[in-house]
Amino acid sequence: MSELFRRVSSRLVSPARLALAMDTGRCRSCGAIDLQRTVCRESYVGGGQTLRRCGICAAVYLAPDFTPESLDLFYREHYRRLFPSETIWRSERRFFAWRGDRPVAEIRLARIAPHLPDGAHLLEIGSGFGAFLGAAATLQGVRLSAVEPDVANRRRLLESANVDFVPGIEAVSPGSIDVVVAFHVLEHLADPLASLKDVHTALKVGGRAFVEVPDLMQGLLSASYVHPAHLSYFTVSTLSRLAGAAGFRIVHVGPHPDGGILAENIWLEIEKLSTAAVAAPALAAMQEEVGAVDARLDAVDWRASSARHWRRTAKHLALAMFGPGLVGELQRFRQWRELRRVGWT
Ligand SMILES: [Zn+2]
Repeated sequence: MSELFRRVSSRLVSPARLALAMDTGRCRSCGAIDLQRTVCRESYVGGGQTLRRCGICAAVYLAPDFTPESLDLFYREHYRRLFPSETIWRSERRFFAWRGDRPVAEIRLARIAPHLPDGAHLLEIGSGFGAFLGAAATLQGVRLSAVEPDVANRRRLLESANVDFVPGIEAVSPGSIDVVVAFHVLEHLADPLASLKDVHTALKVGGRAFVEVPDLMQGLLSASYVHPAHLSYFTVSTLSRLAGAAGFRIVHVGPHPDGGILAENIWLEIEKLSTAAVAAPALAAMQEEVGAVDARLDAVDWRASSARHWRRTAKHLALAMFGPGLVGELQRFRQWRELRRVGWT
């Protein structure tokens, strides 16, 4: 059986092709070298990355990075196979209806629209299929820009929205944007602090950013929570300190106020107060906070238990036999049932 498991697995991912960059041993958020605890090995791809916890700033992160070439290969070839619910299968209409992109976009927009008057300039980082931009296009006179490297899919839910796609946030004029949004993006980025500083630079004084990321303290229940696409695992405290260190005033941070299928996420609203260099607060956490994060990490059974092994084998077999289309369809069906339960569709 284990031979079959290996054969099936090797059809899904080939870790040997994903090279790792040099391990600097530094915390992904604060750059500290001391007090970095290794918690477990990443086991989706098994490429040698480990989950770590910084004893200085309480950040939880995967390291080392893939090399730039391997990261590109990972997103191009492996990502949608590892996460089959991301693969469009047969009906595109059903794919999006069951994923719930549009109702979720409307829920988010309801919180952000008051900051988008006529003439405002909105930039979305990681706009995915474009559902949020499609929804925002219904607002009067709002100018839309976005960063989204997935050229093949980024227009699927734009409807008739007129969006200016830019290669990166560095490509927009400093101080030109009223609102930046980034939903489920920051956890994918190699340097989240530098990325938030880029957002700060792009915003006008008084401009706001809205960020949504998974919440480690609510979502981490088993080893399968850790996967190679997520490089950072934020808590309300680590995320708000990071935003403060990037120069922002925190307007709101906490568990997602809309609940529903967004319940296990953090919602962050931040404001740029001035263009002047801010005396950024230190990133260091209180020891009690590091202890609370450790307690959460220690509550998880990280060992490769036989039950986990069999669940993963069953998933890989199902993927090999039926393809990612059908497996993904079942995952999306479950999502649709949940959307119905909370009344979002
Ligand atoms: Zn740190």
